Amino acid sequence: MLSKDIGIDLGTANVLIYVKGKGVVLNEPSVVAIERDTKKVLAVGEDARRMIGRTPGNIVAIRPLRDGVIADFEIAETMLKHFIDRVGVRSWYSRPRILICAPTNITSVEQKSIRETAEHSGAKEVFLEEEPKAAAIGAGMNIYEPSGNMVIDIGGGTTDVAVLSMGDVVTASSIKVAGDQFDDAITRYIKAKYKLFIGERTAEDIKIGIGTVRPSGRQAEMDIRGRDMVSGLPLTITISSGEVQEALWDAVSTIVLGAKAVLERTPPELSADIIDRGVILTGGGALLNGLDELLSDELRVPVLVAEDPMHCVVKGTGIMLDHLDKVVKKRY
Ligand code: ADP
Ligand code: MG
Repeated sequence: MLSKDIGIDLGTANVLIYVKGKGVVLNEPSVVAIERDTKKVLAVGEDARRMIGRTPGNIVAIRPLRDGVIADFEIAETMLKHFIDRVGVRSWYSRPRILICAPTNITSVEQKSIRETAEHSGAKEVFLEEEPKAAAIGAGMNIYEPSGNMVIDIGGGTTDVAVLSMGDVVTASSIKVAGDQFDDAITRYIKAKYKLFIGERTAEDIKIGIGTVRPSGRQAEMDIRGRDMVSGLPLTITISSGEVQEALWDAVSTIVLGAKAVLERTPPELSADIIDRGVILTGGGALLNGLDELLSDELRVPVLVAEDPMHCVVKGTGIMLDHLDKVVKKRY
């Protein structure tokens, strides 16, 4: 049996694993639940995510990559190893090559730790790739031609904006505002306006369920539950899409400014290509209602949401695995 090469999207919110010949075999939240005193791992992935905000004092549900940097080194390693093991790398006859996309801002020490973790999990060779590159390839862009391609990947902890040409990043920026900050903004808004505490899962449900970033976007309402700051008791209120739009305004503006700054630094010939081809949005944040239209208005270029935006990076790793000799220049 031949080794099955593996591609991994090690995201701040979700980890996806692609196995050559099989497709995406794992898609789990980047969450680990541990016992505070003993550091014992109790659950990883979806099981751990269900515990967020619901754990007793001695158990914590941690997102080790939360802000796009490795907040908790050991736990990030444990999580990666757990997921690779679950895919069953060790049981195969020959060892696979693994291509990993990690958040753009991690340090070289962290890159080394990721590579070692993959090696210890049974990889023959490990390659690390830049995330915007995999996102663009997974979204179907041909980044190897001498022409400009712009991708904006909006994940949980970071938004990565990049212009690529001839297989490499020409201009890029990583902004620390993405899905998590949208959730935080909703939490703060509801606290200020209604004196109601809500959990982070509730904030995310609101964003996905009724959120929009444009006044002309969808109009819906949702009943939400939280804890009244004054009485301390549970309380249900109704909130509307318009309110979510107001809550998200600042965070979305930061992303718009970041994308503009990248375009301003892009050589004119490549900008011209971007006007023709449009900007592609990837990552879970690309699904936020109205974001494509808002960005298109602000950047004055066409903006398209990739097909299946949350799978672009992992699909990109799968495509890159087929051309490893050609596409991977850097080995860490
Ligand atoms: P990462 O690559 O950092 O792991 P993902 O690309 O998996 O992140 O995206 C996760 C983010 O996308 C989360 O903040 C999640 O709330 C958000 N998200 C997922 N679906 C939607 C949706 N339909 N609308 C808005 N945001 C969404
Ligand atoms: Mg991502």
